[in-house]
Amino acid sequence: MSIAQNLQNILAELPTEVTLVAVSKTKPVGDILQAYQAGQRIFGENKVQEMTDKYEQLPKDIQWHMIGHLQTNKVKYLIPYVSLIHGVDSLKLLQEINRQAARFDKKINCLIQVHIAQEETKFGFDAAEIERLLHSDEFKSFQNIQVSGFMGMATFTDNQSQIKAEFTALKNIFDQYKNLILPNFKAEILSMGMSGDYALAVQCGSNMVRIGSSIFGTR
Ligand SMILES: *Cc1c(COP(=O)(O)O)cnc(C)c1O
Repeated sequence: MSIAQNLQNILAELPTEVTLVAVSKTKPVGDILQAYQAGQRIFGENKVQEMTDKYEQLPKDIQWHMIGHLQTNKVKYLIPYVSLIHGVDSLKLLQEINRQAARFDKKINCLIQVHIAQEETKFGFDAAEIERLLHSDEFKSFQNIQVSGFMGMATFTDNQSQIKAEFTALKNIFDQYKNLILPNFKAEILSMGMSGDYALAVQCGSNMVRIGSSIFGTR
């Protein structure tokens, strides 16, 4: 099936309040243009160089989301182009985003990545670390970031009840901070769900899904 048809099928299934991030990592700009022409405007990449290369070649009304693990030394290259950074997984990274955003006189939208998977390899804060971070004086001092919610990745497994438990844990964290309002924090976005598990993620309360292979084919 074509990219446009894949997109249409996915959008038909998603509730209207769920935002679709089309994950275009490793895919050529021609594929992205097909999705663009079908109406898609939000694309996700996981490498800074690849994102900036594609930014240069593609329409400027595309919103680029950084979805992967981001190294602090790459942040400065990303700031001019990125509209949302999903994977903020350490205080060090948050400090660097704030510092570089200030240099560009920008406010950068971020999601805090929460470690929900049992796998050691996935990045992110745990519940206690989030609590400490959001109540710290240092966090309140970050004037060039806006934290708009949370992101997480479930364990790579066929065990649906395990995935459901992990998504539910993330939704509970999201709900826990719904009423916390700070000048640079408001929990509005819950980014969870990929090609293999987005239906379950939406059932569990996701309002932003990151879908790659079901749109563009296997990588
Ligand atoms: C690659 C990637 C996705 C998309 O994965 P698919 O299985 O192709 O839909 C979503 N989120 C993150 C963080 C990714 O790295």
